[in-house]
Amino acid sequence: MEEPAGVSPALDGLSFDEIGERLAADGVSRAHALPLFRWLQRGGRREFEGPLERWLAARESAAVTRVGTVTETASGDGWTRKFLLSLPDGAEVETVLMGFPGRFTACLSTQIGCAMGCVFCATGQMGFSRHLRAGEIVAQARHVAAAVAERHGERLRNLVMMGMGEPLHNFDETMQALEVLTDTRGMNIGPARVTLSTVGHVPGILKLARHPKRYTLAVSLHGASDEERGRLIPVNRRWPLAQLMDACREYSAIRGQRVFVAWTLIGGVNDDLAQARRLAALLAGMEVHVNLIPLNPTAGYEGRAPAWDDVIAFQRVLQDAGLPSTVRQKRGLDVDAGCGQLATRRL
Ligand code: SAH
Ligand code: SF4
Repeated sequence: MEEPAGVSPALDGLSFDEIGERLAADGVSRAHALPLFRWLQRGGRREFEGPLERWLAARESAAVTRVGTVTETASGDGWTRKFLLSLPDGAEVETVLMGFPGRFTACLSTQIGCAMGCVFCATGQMGFSRHLRAGEIVAQARHVAAAVAERHGERLRNLVMMGMGEPLHNFDETMQALEVLTDTRGMNIGPARVTLSTVGHVPGILKLARHPKRYTLAVSLHGASDEERGRLIPVNRRWPLAQLMDACREYSAIRGQRVFVAWTLIGGVNDDLAQARRLAALLAGMEVHVNLIPLNPTAGYEGRAPAWDDVIAFQRVLQDAGLPSTVRQKRGLDVDAGCGQLATRRL
């Protein structure tokens, strides 16, 4: 894996066991791992016993990944909040809170920019800067969880890795962050409530299929033939559709889990019924659920969302083929926090 440059791992990116190992290596009892891990992940008052306090004080600057709020924008309806956060090395990353009454979801970024170059995506348009460290991913969740607690008096329970970047291109740090975030001693997010969305990174999907924790997998398809998909997603050349669908089938077979398929609908590009039929044929016999996402506007792409009738007609073809699907609710468009609109403009 490419080693993320310029930032050292912070203690809040370490798992419970790793914290114990660090302490033990310095002659501090592993029994201190629990209060330390809890404090790193849940915050609260720092009232540690002598040896732990001394150990922590010596590592003060590298304990918690400190993120600053550069800007915070709320959508008109108040339910979507976009945070532009600054990281310790000055880089900036976007994180989104999506609220529904009783259900709060954080949309986390895994990279600054993205190397995959999908033409309709603002993050792809900005190119790739660097991978995020686990602590930097964890810190985003902590930031959103604090906002949920403060504004709504509730707990953050759902995570989608659908912010900036391709999570499976930064596999190790993303998995490490999720290990920390799903730990019952910390933020305690249920693994089934974590969705990893991928552009179709085949080696990553195959690794995820064998990962001990059962996260939810979403695969961004957007085209049902190599030619059509390749025009929107350059990395389709590296991992063509046949390979990708095999990986999805292998994932479902190993896990007994269905795969979510994302299809960003672009008017006049991939919203016609012939493509809907090709999609239905491609997915025939698979355990899937299709999420249809009308295109959100971005500065670097001219495409537009289809007319509503065309969205429904597309969905009907899937329905007739026995494929369950949902049209994703438009959220946060007025603050550019919709799918694919995340980019740090100040860069
Ligand atoms: N890199 C991952 C996750 C981040 S993108 C991936 O591509 O899956 C999250 C989702 O937003 C993907 O399904 C992506 O295809 C979609 N998306 C990107 N740009 C979009 C846009 N302009 N409008 C609607 N959806 C978009
Ligand atoms: Fe990267 Fe996903 Fe955007 Fe494609 S859609 S450029 S993979 S973030």
